Amino acid sequence: MVPIRSVKKESVECETEHFLMAQKQLDEIAAEMGLDAELHERLRYPKRSLIVSIPVRLDSGKVQTFTGYRVHHDVSLGPAKGGIRFHPEVNLGEVAGLAMLMTWKCALMGLPFGGAKGGIRCEPWKMSSGELERLTRRYTAEIINLIGPDKDIPAPDMYTNEQTMAWIMDTYSINVGYTVPSVVTGKPISIGGSLGRQEATGRGVAYCAKQAAAFTELNAKNPSVVIQGFGNVGSVTAKLLYESGYKIIAVSDVYGGIYNMDGLDIPRLLAYVSEMGKVGEFAGGKTISNEELLALPCDILIPAALGNQIRKDNVADLKCKIIVEAANGPTSPEADQYLQDKKIVVVPDVLANAGGVTVSYFEWVQGLMHLFWTEEEVNQRLEQIMGRACQQIFELSKKTGLRLRMAALRIGISRLAEAKRLRGLYP
Ligand code: NAD
Repeated sequence: MVPIRSVKKESVECETEHFLMAQKQLDEIAAEMGLDAELHERLRYPKRSLIVSIPVRLDSGKVQTFTGYRVHHDVSLGPAKGGIRFHPEVNLGEVAGLAMLMTWKCALMGLPFGGAKGGIRCEPWKMSSGELERLTRRYTAEIINLIGPDKDIPAPDMYTNEQTMAWIMDTYSINVGYTVPSVVTGKPISIGGSLGRQEATGRGVAYCAKQAAAFTELNAKNPSVVIQGFGNVGSVTAKLLYESGYKIIAVSDVYGGIYNMDGLDIPRLLAYVSEMGKVGEFAGGKTISNEELLALPCDILIPAALGNQIRKDNVADLKCKIIVEAANGPTSPEADQYLQDKKIVVVPDVLANAGGVTVSYFEWVQGLMHLFWTEEEVNQRLEQIMGRACQQIFELSKKTGLRLRMAALRIGISRLAEAKRLRGLYP
């Protein structure tokens, strides 16, 4: 008879490079913290995964069928929570790996959520607004049994935004027969969104950058910062750090970057990008490629675009002192090891970009209470939660010598393990 274990191993479709990377991270910390072997095995795979076909009538009149995913990694602490991305590289393994990361992130921040992620494999920049709306609505209808304010609450991720969330909320509400704002977070304010949500991830990244500068006793008067990615997260991070006196010397987007060793004028750059749609030809800096940008000498490097940007092949070129991972999974495990050996401090994604899910939590709570907070209240509570998490991680790292990523994962996974132990195994 074939042992069950080997059947399972060979038949898990999500085992792509991205997913294996997330799993390897779990394996490493599980060994380090002596995690119960059976619990470890349970956490290595997602709880449930749904793959859907999404037929969409294009503006041309033709019907194209897209593939979409929604994965719940674990729901022991509460409903599943995680973004939805539209991107040509979306696949089951990527979504499952990101869902796992969401589980650790929510547990680490002390939020009552499990981890989820979703996505549609498409090229959103080639689609009209009408096509995107039909794609989003049909996707929502296909995953409707999985989502709901007590089950799974999606949010924006790459190439999805407030409008996408409004379409999901409307489609869900029409299907159940009444308005359910709390089925998504990251909604527009006028239909139940939270003040401060749009800036929350960037605000958390900027906060972590400052905490990391203090933790590493970075003595620069105006620390220099390089940011890859100038979308929602990258641009807000740039704005807030600029306002705090940091010198943003380079930023980039998918088309390329610009740099100015004396510091970019961020308010002018933001105005330029909102008009022109890209950073490329901004007069206040010289053009630079994304590869060159990563290798610029600086105090703090902030990858805020895609995953897997700092790899074995380019990590030796880096000349920064601190990396703050605004994007999800921007550093490969080999690169991570190299950075540790070189004593470059990495503030891991589970902490650095957790401001988004934290204010999503506030949005969900406000929606369920039908009582809304001021922006100051939201920002204050965000800082409290980020501050607590930073302190716990920095302290554990100092005490044990664990790098920040491992310290963060250990705190998150310990909390989850305790919850799972207490709940027991059904039946
Ligand atoms: P966004 O779509 O608003 O912006 C992405 C930016 O990255 C754009 O400037 C784009 O041009 C740039 N980019 C894309 N491909 C690139 C490439 N190959 N090289 C350089 N730049 C490239 O997305 P966002 O919401 O700012 O998210 C950025 C990252 O942060 C993602 O990894 C996302 O998963 C993560 N994140 C976002 C949130 C959130 O609340 N928005 C929360 C947690 C994590």
